[in-house]
Amino acid sequence: MTFVCWAGILRLMPRPISATISSAALAHNLAIARSHVGAAKIWAVVKANAYGHGLLRTAAALHESDGFAMLDFADALRVRGSGVEKPILMLEGFFKPEDIALLLRHRLTPVIHNMEQIEMLEKTGIDGTLDVYLKVNSGMNRLGFSLDNVRLAWNSLHGNPRVASVTLMTHFADADGDGGIAGQLQWFNELTQPLTGTDPAPRSLANSAALLRYPDQACADWVRPGIMLYGCSPFSFRTAEDIGLKPAMTLTAEIVGVQQLQAGERVGYGMTYEAAQEMTIGVVACGYADGYPRHAPSGTPVLVAGQRTGTVGRVSMDLLCVDISDIPEAYVGTPVTLWGEGLPCDEVAMAAGTVSYELLCALAPRVPIVET
Ligand SMILES: *Cc1c(COP(=O)(O)O)cnc(C)c1O
Repeated sequence: MTFVCWAGILRLMPRPISATISSAALAHNLAIARSHVGAAKIWAVVKANAYGHGLLRTAAALHESDGFAMLDFADALRVRGSGVEKPILMLEGFFKPEDIALLLRHRLTPVIHNMEQIEMLEKTGIDGTLDVYLKVNSGMNRLGFSLDNVRLAWNSLHGNPRVASVTLMTHFADADGDGGIAGQLQWFNELTQPLTGTDPAPRSLANSAALLRYPDQACADWVRPGIMLYGCSPFSFRTAEDIGLKPAMTLTAEIVGVQQLQAGERVGYGMTYEAAQEMTIGVVACGYADGYPRHAPSGTPVLVAGQRTGTVGRVSMDLLCVDISDIPEAYVGTPVTLWGEGLPCDEVAMAAGTVSYELLCALAPRVPIVET
C-alpha cells in the first residue's frame, strides 16, 4: 500500500533509456515509397509489431497506405478494433479451419500458400466471400505453390463460391543482392500465364528492395514495402539517406557511470577489451535485454553527446560501455544515441554482423516509447 502511494506521488522514474518513434518519419517514408510505385497500391507491412515500432501507432501513422500486411490474427483484430476499415493481408494465410470464420467476419485477405488451406476452404460451411492471394513459389522455396500444384490450387480457388477474387503473389529472395529478380520473375510468369490466359489476374510481387531497384518490372498492382517505411535501407550498397528515408526509431540512453582506465586494464564480462593506453569509459544504460545486439563487437558506432565513438567490451544484459576519452564533456547523464537520428541503424547492424530488420524487431518491451 505504502509502495503504491509513493509510486503515485513521486511518479516512478524509468531508467534513462527510451525509443522515440516518429509518426512524421513513417508518413514521410510511405510517401517516398509511393513516389516509386506509380499507380500500384501499397500494403504497408506491419508484421512483428510493425518492425518493433508498435502496431497501432504505426498503422495510425501510415493511414495513407492502401492496406496493412501482417501475420497474426490477434494483431489483425487489434487493427480492426482501432477502426481501420481498409484491407488487411494475412501474409501466412490461416492455420486452422476455425480461422476461416475470423477471416470472413473481419474481412481479412489470406495468402493461400499450401494445399491444406485450399482443402480447409473447400470444406468450410461458413457463408460469406473472401478476397484471397495465391502465393506462387518462384524460386525462394519458402512458401507457395510450385509447378506441380499451382494449377490445382488456382482451379480450386476459382471454383470455390466463397472466393470473390484471386490475386497472384510471389516473394523475391534476392531483390537486394547480385541475383536480382529476373530469374524469379520469368519463372513466375511461366507458372502463371497458362492459368490466367489473356485476362491477367492482379499481381503483388515487390518488397522494399524490389520496388526501389526494379520499379518498372516489379511494382505490378500491389507492392509490399516493410523496412523502407521504418527508414532503413534494404541494400548494403545504398544508404537510407540516399533513398531519401528518415529513421522512424531512435534508441537513446544515458551514461550512468564513468571509469578511468590505465593501460592494460580490461572492461566487461570475459575481460575481452584491454585498454592500450589511459582511457575514459562511459557506462550506458542499455544492454541486450533492451534489444541491443549482444554480439556487437568493440568499435560498434554510437553517438555520445552527438559525437561518434565506439563500444568497448562485451554488451551485457542492462549495460554497455563506450569510449569517451575524446569527449571530455561526457559524464553521468550525457545522452547516448544507439541508433536512429544521426546514426543509421543500418550502420550499427552492419558492424554487428546483422541487418537493421533484426535490431528494430528486437526492441524490448521494457524500453519506454516516446511518440513524436
Ligand atoms: C516481410 C515481407 C515483406 C516486406 O519486406 P521488406 O524487405 O521489409 O520490404 C514483403 N512481403 C512479404 C511476403 C514479407 O514477408
